[in-house]
Amino acid sequence: MDIINDEFNVKSGKRVEIIDITSNLNDLLKKQGINQGLVNVFARHSTAGIVINENESRLIKDFQNTLEALIPENNNYGHDLIDNNADSHIRAFFIGNSQTIPIKMGLLDLGTWQKVFFVELDGPRTRSFAVTIIGK
Ligand code: ZN
Repeated sequence: MDIINDEFNVKSGKRVEIIDITSNLNDLLKKQGINQGLVNVFARHSTAGIVINENESRLIKDFQNTLEALIPENNNYGHDLIDNNADSHIRAFFIGNSQTIPIKMGLLDLGTWQKVFFVELDGPRTRSFAVTIIGK
C-alpha cells in the first residue's frame, strides 16, 4: 500500500467558478499506477470548496444562480467590514472543502454522471488543492 501526496494549481477566471478537476485526479492515479484504494481531495482555502455533481453547462449555471440567490453578496455581513467577502466564506461553509472517493480498476469509482469540481467562491485567482491517495 502506498500513500501519495500531491498538489494541483487551478486558475479561476471569475469570482464564482465551478471547475471540473476529474481528469486531473484520474491522470494522477494512472501516473502513480494506483489500482484500488481511496483518494481525498482537499481545498486548503476558506473561500473555495470541493463538490461532486454533474457537469452539464446549464446545470453549472443553475448552481451558480442558486448560490447567489441563497447566499447573496453584500447582505450586511459583519465580515464585509474586514475584507468584503463574507458571502464567499458562507458559501464555502455550506459546500465543504473536501471529498473522499473510492478508486476501482485504476479510476475514480464515480457514478455515470458524477464529476469532481473545485468551486471558486472568491476569484479570480490562482488556487491549489491537495490530493492524498491511499491505495495500491
Ligand atoms: Zn474574508
